[in-house]
Amino acid sequence: MATSSLLDYGGNVTKGLGRITEGIMTSGKGSYVEYDDGRKMLDFTCGIGVTNMGHCHPKISKAAADQCMNIVHAQCSIAFHEPYLRLVKKLLPLMPDPSLDSFFFWNSGSEAVEASLKMARTATGRQNIITMQGAYHGRTFGAMAVTRSKTVYSAGVAPLMPGVFTIPYPFWHQLGGKPDMTEDAQVAQCLYQLELLLAQQTAPADTAAIIIEPVLGEGGYVPAPAAFLQGLRAICDKHGILLIIDEVQSGFSRTGKFFAIEYSGVRPDILIMAKGLANGFPLSGVVSRKELTDKLATGSMGGTYAGNAVSCAAACAVVDAMQEENVLANVNARSEELFSVLKALKAAHPAHILDVRGQGLMVAVEFATPAGPGATLDAVAAPEGQGLGKTLASRVAKKCIEKGMIILTTSVYEVVRFIPPLNITAEDLAKGAQIFRDAVEEVVK
Ligand code: PMP
Repeated sequence: MATSSLLDYGGNVTKGLGRITEGIMTSGKGSYVEYDDGRKMLDFTCGIGVTNMGHCHPKISKAAADQCMNIVHAQCSIAFHEPYLRLVKKLLPLMPDPSLDSFFFWNSGSEAVEASLKMARTATGRQNIITMQGAYHGRTFGAMAVTRSKTVYSAGVAPLMPGVFTIPYPFWHQLGGKPDMTEDAQVAQCLYQLELLLAQQTAPADTAAIIIEPVLGEGGYVPAPAAFLQGLRAICDKHGILLIIDEVQSGFSRTGKFFAIEYSGVRPDILIMAKGLANGFPLSGVVSRKELTDKLATGSMGGTYAGNAVSCAAACAVVDAMQEENVLANVNARSEELFSVLKALKAAHPAHILDVRGQGLMVAVEFATPAGPGATLDAVAAPEGQGLGKTLASRVAKKCIEKGMIILTTSVYEVVRFIPPLNITAEDLAKGAQIFRDAVEEVVK
């Protein structure tokens, strides 16, 4: 397809958007995407954790195409539509706790975050929200207000939503510790900071909710220790504070469980999902308990395109395909293979690779800098999906792209993140791991 003359119009697209690859992407199939100049690239980004079942999965694309011939826009405030209710039926048994029985759907993760904050305030009659250092929840105003991963998102646009407080996430960088700081010590420090916050800055009676990603995403791909999530649950229970679990990136089998929160056994009061939910069709969801959602005034929630019929039909097919293809087994098998390659690479380059971490196929490699861990804060204030520049992680990611694999960096630290398709073959996973290994060896030599 001759599309390259269209690139002339790239200058008419806002500079507020950034891109990590050159040229025009024209198609995607499974674990690969193609560009108009004939490049075929292995996609280890899944479009930032979205196309979990691969690009243009036949069953999912067909379900969407069929729905397009039925009805595209059955507006959710005008009538129920069939895929909406079918999706609720399919999701109900997959919830991490049976108390999660009341759904509503949106288009993006940010909108779902906004809705969860609005609902937490309405349901509790309290205003304040506690978020985590390093958190990413989106770029709309409320979501930005609870985002703490990089200043670039909100610089120059304050005031944001007031009443937001921050505690550290159990990640040694945030605790002034060393990489070998024990998990127990990290958890104890973070829970202590929460207790202090509730005693000194936001009284429990003013605090509506705590919002957390069970795997810190843009903040560095750090799984929360189960003891931390359990500690948050206990404190929330003690004070009537709601626990909002943002599974926009970690949900839908990404971490080797259907939802990452299952690793801790913790019950969310509100669970947010998006990205992998519809494998690329715009759809997000909020699920909570009827007792809480019933407190919303009728008509206070909704949106023109919220819970679009084509997206819901695609999401139903996602759930079916994940079950039929037993994708969780593939995630866990491929995860083991990926970890074994990356750990061997770390052992071979102890001066350059600081950490290999993650859950399932949400995996990160953190590099050290010559100046030592945590010394890169000046070099990294680039938005999500950008920043391929001067840092070691960025140079490795750039090298991978030159070698035919798209991969992203993340966080203000030196982190490369792996988000391959969940149904990737062992062969393609090995190919991606080999490209990464070659890139690292060329960059650090
Ligand atoms: N929450 C988390 C944990 C995310 O990773 C993201 C997107 N990266 C969002 C919220 C925002 O989602 P969206 O970009 O669809 O608005």
